[in-house]
Amino acid sequence: MASEGNIAPAIGIDLGTTYSCVAVWQNNRVEIIPNDQGNRITPSCVAFTEDGRLLGDAAKNQIDMNPTNTVFAVKRLIGRRFSDSSVQNDVKYWPFKVVAGPSDRPRIVVNYRGVEKQFYAEEISSMVLVKMKEVAETYLATTVKNAIITVPAYFSDSQRQATKNAGVIAGLNVIRIMDEPTAAAIAYGFDKITVDANKKNVLVFYLGGGTFDVSLLSIGHGNFVVRATAGDTHLGGEDFDDRLIDHCVKEFKKKYKKDITQNAKSLRRLRTACERAKRILSSSSRATIEVDCLYDGIDFSTRISQARFEELNKDLFMRCTEQIEECLRGAQIDKTGVDVVVLVGGSTRIPNVQQLVQDFFEGKELFKGIHPDEAVACGAAIYAANLNGQREKDMQNLVLVDVTPLSLGIGIREGFEYMRMVVPKNTPIPTKKYILLVTDHDNQTSARFPIYEGESAETKYNNLLGEFEINGIDPAPKGAVKIDVWFDIDADGILSVSAQVKSTSIKNGIIIKQNGDLTAAEIQTMIEEASRYKAEDEKHKSKISLEDLADKLKSLALDPGRSKSDMKSMKAAAENAIAWLDRNPQADIDEINKRRGQLKTTFPILCEEN
Ligand code: AMP
Repeated sequence: MASEGNIAPAIGIDLGTTYSCVAVWQNNRVEIIPNDQGNRITPSCVAFTEDGRLLGDAAKNQIDMNPTNTVFAVKRLIGRRFSDSSVQNDVKYWPFKVVAGPSDRPRIVVNYRGVEKQFYAEEISSMVLVKMKEVAETYLATTVKNAIITVPAYFSDSQRQATKNAGVIAGLNVIRIMDEPTAAAIAYGFDKITVDANKKNVLVFYLGGGTFDVSLLSIGHGNFVVRATAGDTHLGGEDFDDRLIDHCVKEFKKKYKKDITQNAKSLRRLRTACERAKRILSSSSRATIEVDCLYDGIDFSTRISQARFEELNKDLFMRCTEQIEECLRGAQIDKTGVDVVVLVGGSTRIPNVQQLVQDFFEGKELFKGIHPDEAVACGAAIYAANLNGQREKDMQNLVLVDVTPLSLGIGIREGFEYMRMVVPKNTPIPTKKYILLVTDHDNQTSARFPIYEGESAETKYNNLLGEFEINGIDPAPKGAVKIDVWFDIDADGILSVSAQVKSTSIKNGIIIKQNGDLTAAEIQTMIEEASRYKAEDEKHKSKISLEDLADKLKSLALDPGRSKSDMKSMKAAAENAIAWLDRNPQADIDEINKRRGQLKTTFPILCEEN
């Protein structure tokens, strides 16, 4: 399968907390790309073993046996500090180890081929992206570089930049970082915009594995204009699983006086059982959480009702409706002005969540016509093709206007430090905003510019994005020196700030988190390491394939119709191949492939059987 004409393909990747999905526009329609297992979504999971690295389904399938070296949900770490309370909460229930790295950045600790290794969240995310890139390349039978990666609308500047870095480390050309609800809105509205002449106010309610977003868009005539967005980057299915786990941990303690939280394997197995029960509770009123030999040889089994599950998560579910209110306030629209409510994300399958949203909109029918797990990747792929210049019959020129999710400003010290807002939240992007500042004391020769995001007037409650200084200002009375400051936000929602002393050449600036917290050199090293891991994976695959071939030869040798001498030579060749692999652990992939080729040439029957 090839892509459109001579245009290099561009894919859309929904990089989810629990699952990822990749799609492409081709043959005049959007296609979800199945992975090597035939699955349309791939676990955002990476495992490290004695032999090598496993990605996606292969990683998830061995998670219960290798819990401390199987990493998942890194979207909850990306662009965050280790000391963030949300990170501290998450690591409590994760079987893999997370430690504080330089500048309080979380690092994931695993054992890879017998050696302890530490990775940043960007690196693990890049491995998931490598998998999605490979899935697309196999399907399209060509190299894929151009991609849109989606992020929660409520992701901060540093989370966006860190995600973009993950794409770069994976060898992708990230043509756009796109908001998940906006992508879902495109999936919803794309085939309707030509039919529906009138503009519609569409509210996208996105509740996934780890994040929650709500966006209000005005859709019509090919235009997708985001009017406001709200959400919580730490609310989703994983939290509902945590509540169930917590419930079971307490029950186990009460019944058996034992604390299972210290045992990574037990916790991991309990998580799997709780997630399964949660899904069952979306279609049944009761479910059983059952784990044989959970801890200290004790079998654990408990029944849970849908009502109890709802009670355990009541406050979390309520947070969703609060954010709908916040979004409508931001868009200055009343709930009756919403024409369509679109549900997206795996967790919108929970009946109580649907009920709460429907009640909020006073019984309005909710739109469930788009696939909750696939809509985001579909929308991203449609927009990727659009940016890529693919113009087919059904592909029209889409105009997309996104907004900035959080207010941005400068810290000004007047007793305490307050935030002088420069870009209010829900401002359409890209945008450039200007303010004029003056010196605040006599003979001031330098000025500091701390840049914050957040909604509080006091900067201590907001998030410091970065800071820079201007030096060499000529001494003058307070207020006499004027400084121009510009805030520039690009289409990915990434901010740069610059300042210049008026009528002079004295200036400075900062591209906030242009490299996230990573330096350009660190990113380069990670790119090189990523290709080394890939080469190791390939070598491992090739070794396994030689071993498989040798095993096959051995079993073919046992065929009673074969002559004794054939049997002997086949068996000897197979044993030789295995012995050679054992003797030459450092053999490179070409040597291994050469051995495979030799076996096949000597015993053509291997090719027939294959
Ligand atoms: P997403 O990020 O959109 O892929 O959503 C993944 C989340 O949806 C995970 O936390 C899943 O456990 C959750 N999920 C998937 N199916 C169901 C279901 N039937 N009921 C409840 N949660 C579900």
